[in-house]
Amino acid sequence: MKKGPLLYRGKAKSVYLTDNPDEVTMEFRDDITAFDGGKNAVLKGKGQYNAAVSAFLFEYLEIHGVKTQFIHMLDERTMLVRRLSMIPLEVIVRNVAAGSLVKNYPFREGDVIRPAIIVLDYKDDTRHDPMVNDDIVYALGLVNREELLTIRKLALKVNDLLRTYLSGLSITLVDFKLEFGRWKGGVLVGDEISMDSMRLWDAKTRESLDKDVYRFDKGDVMATYAAVAERITPGALHRYEAEKTVFTGEGSG
Ligand code: 5GP
Repeated sequence: MKKGPLLYRGKAKSVYLTDNPDEVTMEFRDDITAFDGGKNAVLKGKGQYNAAVSAFLFEYLEIHGVKTQFIHMLDERTMLVRRLSMIPLEVIVRNVAAGSLVKNYPFREGDVIRPAIIVLDYKDDTRHDPMVNDDIVYALGLVNREELLTIRKLALKVNDLLRTYLSGLSITLVDFKLEFGRWKGGVLVGDEISMDSMRLWDAKTRESLDKDVYRFDKGDVMATYAAVAERITPGALHRYEAEKTVFTGEGSG
């Protein structure tokens, strides 16, 4: 597998072509941004924590029957993934009221939401990712009815799996954002599932364990990311060292 030219540079990840047209590499950089990029910083090591958590959770989903883009890690911050055709929707699942839900609607922070809510945002920073409904999604031609049904089902299944796994670690999955892409006639989970895309609270103390620590200056972001990565992926941060030779050797991927 040879790393090719840059395909796409997002706010925190870069995607590179490979010599296989069906696969790209996704590099998790140390950039952290909030408020549509209005606040930004570089935090050394952040990329590897998000990569480790994303890889672990993608594998967890795969084991439990949810197909994702993930193939395997190439190094501590780079994953080899299927080259999906990304759908510009942020599919947000909410179990507990927080963030924009509390800002925009009469929920109180911490209200438990049952059944979980799915919110769809159109992914476009220049428009501040506006919320859309099914009619807007169809009118824009972003997905068809069958795809949206699949996306909703998958989002709820991912929610059940992640919520259960994390609650076993005394972590409350408050909400999270997924992105999906088309792949050979189906729809797979793409992008990342990390502390940048989930809102996590310690179940006992309600302490933030995610990007809210950066957004709202709640404490030491890197210490939080390191601790939560270790909590979610026991041993995973060290595992890549052992696997490195396999991934970088001839014929890998
Ligand atoms: P909220 O709508 O409360 O700002 O965000 C809800 C959840 O979706 C949070 O877990 C948040 O991290 C995630 N989320 C919403 N928009 C974005 C986005 O543009 N990028 C990322 N990485 N996560 C987002």
